[in-house]
Amino acid sequence: MRAQPNASHFIDGAYVEDSAGTPFDSLYPATGEVIARLHAATPAIVEQAVAAAKRAQPEWAAMSPTARGRILKKAADIMRARNRELSELETLDTGKPIQETLVADPTSGADSFEFFGGVAAAALNGAHIPLGADFAYTKRVPIGVCVGIGAWNYPQQIACWKAAPALVSGNAMVFKPSENTPLGALKIAEILIEAGLPKGLFNVIQGDRDTGPLLVGHPDVGKVSLTGSVPTGRKVAAAAAGQLKHVTMELGGKSPLIVFEDADLDSAIGGAMLGNFYSTGQVCSNGTRVFVQNGIKDRFLAGLRDRTEKIVIGDPLSEETQLGPMVSKLQRDKVLAYIETGKAEGATLVTGGAIPNDVPAEGTYIQPTVFADVTDTMTIAREEIFGPVMCVLDFDDEEEVIGRANATEFGLSAGVFTRDIARAHRVVDRLEAGTLWINTYNLCPVEIPFGGSKQSGFGRENSVEALQHYTELKTVYVAMGKVEAPY
Ligand code: NAD
Repeated sequence: MRAQPNASHFIDGAYVEDSAGTPFDSLYPATGEVIARLHAATPAIVEQAVAAAKRAQPEWAAMSPTARGRILKKAADIMRARNRELSELETLDTGKPIQETLVADPTSGADSFEFFGGVAAAALNGAHIPLGADFAYTKRVPIGVCVGIGAWNYPQQIACWKAAPALVSGNAMVFKPSENTPLGALKIAEILIEAGLPKGLFNVIQGDRDTGPLLVGHPDVGKVSLTGSVPTGRKVAAAAAGQLKHVTMELGGKSPLIVFEDADLDSAIGGAMLGNFYSTGQVCSNGTRVFVQNGIKDRFLAGLRDRTEKIVIGDPLSEETQLGPMVSKLQRDKVLAYIETGKAEGATLVTGGAIPNDVPAEGTYIQPTVFADVTDTMTIAREEIFGPVMCVLDFDDEEEVIGRANATEFGLSAGVFTRDIARAHRVVDRLEAGTLWINTYNLCPVEIPFGGSKQSGFGRENSVEALQHYTELKTVYVAMGKVEAPY
């Protein structure tokens, strides 16, 4: 098997197997080939991982942020040096085209290690608060053992986005990747050890929805950061609340992307395509409700159709390929069912909507799909599809489109294309979302905070903001005189 790791789990600096765990296969979505055989974590493995993290954390927390950061920066260098190897693994794990993984997956993880490695020494500071003769000070202290739970669309990136701020703040982490994409996080664990991270600080255990709760409910875990769907988020947040744990929730979306008549049409079409078809549409922040002002609707749809039909679908390991398969058959079938619902509810299928010709029978491919004449009440305009399905909705004026864009339980992202800079700021100001773009879409460099509002979650990843979510504030009052007690 071409991507078989040494063992299923990585605990306390070494690969660990427990064949008593439920066996599962990792498939290459482009062909259905089994690329690795693994076991889900047993309760004993969960215990072992949390215990290793708990044991390692105090000494790590006692190091200076600069010393911790140096190790993360080394890990970033190793990831960059091995970018091709890691990208190929990510492509095998997810089915995403190598054209994407080479520039958006390990590189984004490396950015995260580099950024947090460098910024920690300056950002993990407290305050000095003068109180007359007395004073107080605050310090940011690590939470302890943090759990990261990942989705399958950006496995390496998600592991790094959680590990980097957690580790540099002085925490240890146990990370559980998605059962669909178990391989990349193991490599990250190996690389961190090679970079000099003491053992036990970043552990990876495998498993699914039965394993996650064992981690979330573990009494020695102080924080859970989940990237996943809204229903999973509700369960994880509820379980964490039972023990009043810290949580970060990076959940799903149905984000609006608004194109005004004065927009640069080519850019708007390109932005909408990136925001719907990149990673075969499996991106949480995608702008899947594309609101197009009536005056440019026909030109927008013509250009969009033309460019969409030229997308190169094929072998994800070929650098020519622009669109790979979906992560699994289950997910592909779910998307096909949404396409049928869209047709049945009266949306106009502009292009796509089917399984492409000339792809391997066991590959989980689907055509990039555009629906026009979508209305707000249609299922495809309300529910997260998480596949390459773009819904185009028409609108007449600014006030109307803001109300309709906000009429959703989700609040992850939003975008606006217009040449009118005042309107751009006015509109984004009123859109209910955590991460917004003007005249572009889906760019998430590590320097800027990323995260959602409403049912799309809370907490932020990336930027110095993320450090707030992996630390607690400790306040110390210092008296300089004698205690004056009334008794
Ligand atoms: P999912 O919710 O099915 O699973 C996410 C992870 O949670 C997996 O590792 C899974 O094993 C685990 N899990 C499931 N039930 C659990 C439970 N009860 N307790 C603990 N862990 C549990 O999501 P998915 O299908 O892997 O990913 C797709 C979803 O993720 C989409 O909704 C997408 O929008 C969202 N997502 C969000 C972001 C973001 O940053 N906001 C990024 C990527 C994906």
